[in-house]
Amino acid sequence: MQNLELKSFLEQHEREHPLPHQLAALLLDIADACKQVGREVAYGSLKGNMGNAASANSQGEQQKTLDVLSNDIFLQHFQHHAAIAGLASEEMEHALVTGQENAPYLLLFDPLDGSSNVNLNLSVGSIFSVLPAVPGRAAQAEDFLQPGTRQQLAAYALYGTSTMLVFTLGFGVYGFTLNPDSGEFLLTHANMRIAADTSEFAINMSNQRYWQPPVQRYIKDCLAGSTGPRGKDFNMRWVATMVAEVHRLLVRGGVFLYPLDSRSVGKGGRLRLLYEGNPMSWLVEQAGGQGSTGHRRILEVEPTSLHQRVAVVLGASSEVGLVREYYSFTDPTA
Ligand code: MN
Ligand code: MN
Repeated sequence: MQNLELKSFLEQHEREHPLPHQLAALLLDIADACKQVGREVAYGSLKGNMGNAASANSQGEQQKTLDVLSNDIFLQHFQHHAAIAGLASEEMEHALVTGQENAPYLLLFDPLDGSSNVNLNLSVGSIFSVLPAVPGRAAQAEDFLQPGTRQQLAAYALYGTSTMLVFTLGFGVYGFTLNPDSGEFLLTHANMRIAADTSEFAINMSNQRYWQPPVQRYIKDCLAGSTGPRGKDFNMRWVATMVAEVHRLLVRGGVFLYPLDSRSVGKGGRLRLLYEGNPMSWLVEQAGGQGSTGHRRILEVEPTSLHQRVAVVLGASSEVGLVREYYSFTDPTA
């Protein structure tokens, strides 16, 4: 199976398992769009792509040139796509409906994840979540507010030392690496799995004083190492690109936390439920890990708004289980 082209992989899979042909075709189109974004990222400073755009997004965050550019590239590919009834992006205030009544899918995306790392030549990525459209009518804004359990496809592209596309269609997680000579994505990571146990965590330690007690306790126990309650030493990583953090979970294991803290409690967290929390949770679950807010499974959170944020604990099932246990002693409504 190694070095199988994405198209051949999907054809092979369609013969063995039910997989809507339009969904497989959509994934190929996502792969093509990501190649284009990956090329723009790879130009680095040469094209003047590295700076800030003259704009902020709907959430008041400064946009980078590449945030805008990558959003435009995905719009070009999917705004008039036969399978797409509507689009929602982290960089657009409102969802965009295409008016096509027979298009089966809604595409939600974070066009450039980790864009603050662009100027540093560190890894960035794109994240995708595909939800079913309501059949028989044009899409409406509220159609996007479906829980993550309804996802049909979750994927990310990682523009790292190599460009990769990693996805799940509900039958495990598969990673493809872009061959820069042929321009083809080739299967390099079949059936990616997250080990249940780990001794590596990722969290932004500078926020420590704002964390809630269960996270304080969890990280304190990890830091106590072999002489603490965990009885082993832990290692820490922090890339500040969610795609790269999740990719590390899938390749090497570990746990990644962007928890609720006393500053984000009114917003529900830092990361977005629809473009980040849900697709990454489904990928992690499909690889044998867990995705939790601390109190509940991320995929079961009922969205109430497009840019809703969520607390995220992702990764090795034993570690996420422990964080959940610590949260179980606290008030879920607090
Ligand atoms: Mn992001
Ligand atoms: Mn982004």
